[in-house]
Amino acid sequence: MDFALNEQQRMIQSLARDFAEKTLRPRAREIDRTSEWPADIVEGLAKLGFLGLPYPQEYGGAGADYLSYVLAVEEMSRVAMVGGALIAIGALSEEALFTFGTEEQKRQHLPPLLRGEHMGIFAFTEPGTGSDPRAITSVAKPDGDSYLISGEKTFASLAPGAKVAVIFAKDETEQVTAFIVDPLAPGFTIGKHWETMGLRGSGTSPSSWPMSGCRRRISWARRGGASTSCSTPSMWGS
Ligand SMILES: Cc1cc2nc3c(=O)[nH]c(=O)nc-3n(C[C@H](O)[C@H](O)[C@H](O)COP(=O)(O)OP(=O)(O)OC[C@H]3O[C@@H](n4cnc5c(N)ncnc54)[C@H](O)[C@@H]3O)c2cc1C
Repeated sequence: MDFALNEQQRMIQSLARDFAEKTLRPRAREIDRTSEWPADIVEGLAKLGFLGLPYPQEYGGAGADYLSYVLAVEEMSRVAMVGGALIAIGALSEEALFTFGTEEQKRQHLPPLLRGEHMGIFAFTEPGTGSDPRAITSVAKPDGDSYLISGEKTFASLAPGAKVAVIFAKDETEQVTAFIVDPLAPGFTIGKHWETMGLRGSGTSPSSWPMSGCRRRISWARRGGASTSCSTPSMWGS
C-alpha cells in the first residue's frame, strides 16, 4: 500500500501549515484566554476552502478528499485546537447533510456551509446524555404537516456562527431522527458558550427550544430507513 501523499494533498498540507503558522498562531493565545468566537479565523479557513474540503464542488465544496481534510485538521490542531475543531466539528453537520440529505436539502443547505458563509450546529448531546443515543429525551411531535420539537441540548459547538442546525430528537416512532432547523428561528434559544478547559473559541454552547412549525427531516433513505419530509416551511424558502 502506498502511503505517500499525492501532489494535491501535499499542496493542501502546505497551505494549511502556512495558515496555521502565519494566521492562527498569532491569535491562539488570545482565543484561548477569551474563548471568543474567532470570526477572522473562520473567514480565513473559508477563503482557503478548508470548511468544505472533501465535498464535491457542485455543492460548494473544494472537491478534495478525506485525507486532505485530515491533513488540514492536523496542521491546525498542531498550532491551536480551535483551528482543527472549526473544520472537524463543522464537518458533523456537513457530513450528515451530504450523506443523508435529499438532493433538495443538499442543494439548499450545503453550499453556504461548505463555502464557510455560515456554520452548522450538530446538536446531539443533552445534559443527561452524551455517549448513549437511546437516552435522548428531546421529542419531535407531528403537528399537522409539521413537527413540534422540544428539548434541551448542551455542548452545541459553532453556535455563534451558525445559521443552520442538525438536531436530534425522538420522533413519533421513538426513533432518534435528525431534523434541519433554523437556529435563529423564534423559540430556539442558544445560551452563552461554556467556559471549557479545552477547545476554547469553538462556541460550545447550551441550547434549548420548544419550536413549532414545519421542520425538514433529514432523509434516511440511503440507509433503507423511512424517508419522511414535511412540507416546506416558509422560513426555508421553496
Ligand atoms: C468542547 C466540546 C465540544 C462538543 N461539541 C459537541 C457538538 O458540537 N455536538 C454534540 O452533540 N456534542 C458535542 N460535545 C459533546 C460530546 O460529544 C460529549 O461530551 C460526548 O459524547 C460524551 O458525552 P458525555 O459528556 O455526556 O459523557 P458520558 O456519556 O457521561 O461519558 C462519561 C465517561 O463515561 C464513559 N462511558 C460512557 N458510556 C460508557 C459505556 N457504555 N461503557 C464504558 N464507558 C462509558 C465515557 O467514555 C466517558 O469517559 C462536545 C463536548 C465538548 C467537551
